[in-house]
Amino acid sequence: MEKLPFSQLGLSPEILKAVDKMGFEEASPIQTAVIPFGMAGRDVVGQSATGSGKTAAFAIPAIEKVDVSLKKVQVLVLCPTRELAVQVAEECGKLGSFKRGLMEVPIYGGQSYERQFRALAAGAQVVIGTPGRVMDHMERGTLRLDSLKVVVLDEADRMLDMGFRDDIERILSAVPETRQCLFFSATMPRAIQELIKRYTRDPEWVKIEAHAQNAPKVEQIYFEVDRRSKIEVLTRLIDLHDFRFGIIFCSTKIMVDELDEHLHARGYSVDRLHGDITQAQRTRVMDKFRRRGFEFLIATDVAARGLDVDDLEVVFNFDLPNDAEDYTHRVGRTGRAGKTGMAFTFVSGREIYKLQGMVHYARLKIRRERVPSLDEVEEAKGNVFFEKLRATLEEKKFKSHDQMVDRLLEMGYTSTDIASALIHLMGGDTTEPVKKTAKVRAEHIATNEAPPAPADRGSSAPLRSVEPSPARRDAGPPFKTEAPKPAPTGDRFAAQKRTYDRKPRTGREPGFTVVSFNVGRQQLVTPADLVGKIAGVTRLPASAVGAIDIHEEHTHVDVATEHAEMVVAKLAGIRIKNQSLKLSIVPAPGA
Ligand code: ADP
Ligand code: MG
Repeated sequence: MEKLPFSQLGLSPEILKAVDKMGFEEASPIQTAVIPFGMAGRDVVGQSATGSGKTAAFAIPAIEKVDVSLKKVQVLVLCPTRELAVQVAEECGKLGSFKRGLMEVPIYGGQSYERQFRALAAGAQVVIGTPGRVMDHMERGTLRLDSLKVVVLDEADRMLDMGFRDDIERILSAVPETRQCLFFSATMPRAIQELIKRYTRDPEWVKIEAHAQNAPKVEQIYFEVDRRSKIEVLTRLIDLHDFRFGIIFCSTKIMVDELDEHLHARGYSVDRLHGDITQAQRTRVMDKFRRRGFEFLIATDVAARGLDVDDLEVVFNFDLPNDAEDYTHRVGRTGRAGKTGMAFTFVSGREIYKLQGMVHYARLKIRRERVPSLDEVEEAKGNVFFEKLRATLEEKKFKSHDQMVDRLLEMGYTSTDIASALIHLMGGDTTEPVKKTAKVRAEHIATNEAPPAPADRGSSAPLRSVEPSPARRDAGPPFKTEAPKPAPTGDRFAAQKRTYDRKPRTGREPGFTVVSFNVGRQQLVTPADLVGKIAGVTRLPASAVGAIDIHEEHTHVDVATEHAEMVVAKLAGIRIKNQSLKLSIVPAPGA
């Protein structure tokens, strides 16, 4: 869906000034497609979703056609309702505000004829009206259409549904042969096609698909997340829903790279795409993703554009997209083929206003939810495990191990004990008590997540009611998450997933060596940053990194002793938080 700046659509300076003043940054896809045809005098049949900007798409070329020195009706817009007529008239007024001498008037049932007659008599060139009232004025002789240049049907299908067909036909047969016809309809039933055939000449058909807007099958949810907590929230959501196939959109190449490192470090199966990656490599990544060779693609909008995968389980807007168009594009890649897709959007700080704007402009159906707690994630994982186990038993999808089981039974273990021990080994164990250590650990888990407002609990407020609360964000110490539970070892990458699941003190773990990094709280460095960097650069599994102790200007990190030298060598000079890393091995006490 192409979009162009208004300046490239061949418009007059007056209109350009007006759209600029209205705050439109670029033409929407329907505008980009329709305006040039409209300017060239062609008939157009346009189809696009609600909120895609159809009004300006027809109003701009129509207003451009008006000769202001001529005080006669030159543009007629037919709308189904009085509200719409007023709205369109207002938009025409704004678009024509720098075109001196332009007058527009809405005419609709319920308002006095007298008043409408005065406006018409004063020489309005643009008339916006409902078919019934337009018909009445024509019959009274108060609306003359002999100088008409452009006729517009806005929401033609709705007008037919409302029984305006006869009026429309009579109006269209009464206007000059030479007029231009711009025809808009959300749907194209047979009756509409007949009208188009009869009253347009060789029209250009413009159809803009907007998946998300007509895709109720995508469940769209947003979270207000502190920027530094985004990765934590992302992994929680992936774990909670047990997603296996999705795209994570970021706004910059740097963010794509960073996130790729972090998620690798946490053991997720990911790869990345952005503009700096060679074409050959890009093709490889896309092919692999299509074949489901990995689970999550991290990408920028531009890089993902050439990717024809649209049956994703989930789309994450790790960064808010630039506009509703991009949002629609991203979200439209899920929820196809009769399946319900999910789209999660993260907004931090003032981005909430931008999202509100997009919701208003494109009427997005997005709702707010609070960030799931670790307990909820663990519980959901338990359920997933239970379901898998049940399905395995039901479908008898396992070899029998009678001998081993018999031996254990002979040793006096009950079958319940044996099964429980196996579940424990498989990582289905999600009920271990861990709360005791929560306080100690929490000091070292710096996710800086804003606490959910009390009202959030268990409910999901609609967007409109959400007031960003700077006070909540700025005041008080950052929120600490509960301690994560020990990694359930049975699941795919679980051993590596829980990078935060660490002892709070470094240097006490056998087999680990303390490495000192020259970054600390002052640089706002988090354990995730460090683990991500280490794993990203060295490709070591996250399990090679132990406890992390962040101080004001430096950080102690436990690294598996056999890798410590390599980590020091490979990370020296690497940039993190805009600082060039210097590392050294801290000698063991008493050594
Ligand atoms: P439609 O008729 O397709 O449902 P509208 O013409 O009513 O859509 O436009 C919906 C909203 O989008 C309006 O508030 C309008 O001012 C705004 N809008 C239209 N075009 C643009 C644009 N190019 N950039 C930003 N906002 C726009
Ligand atoms: Mg409209």
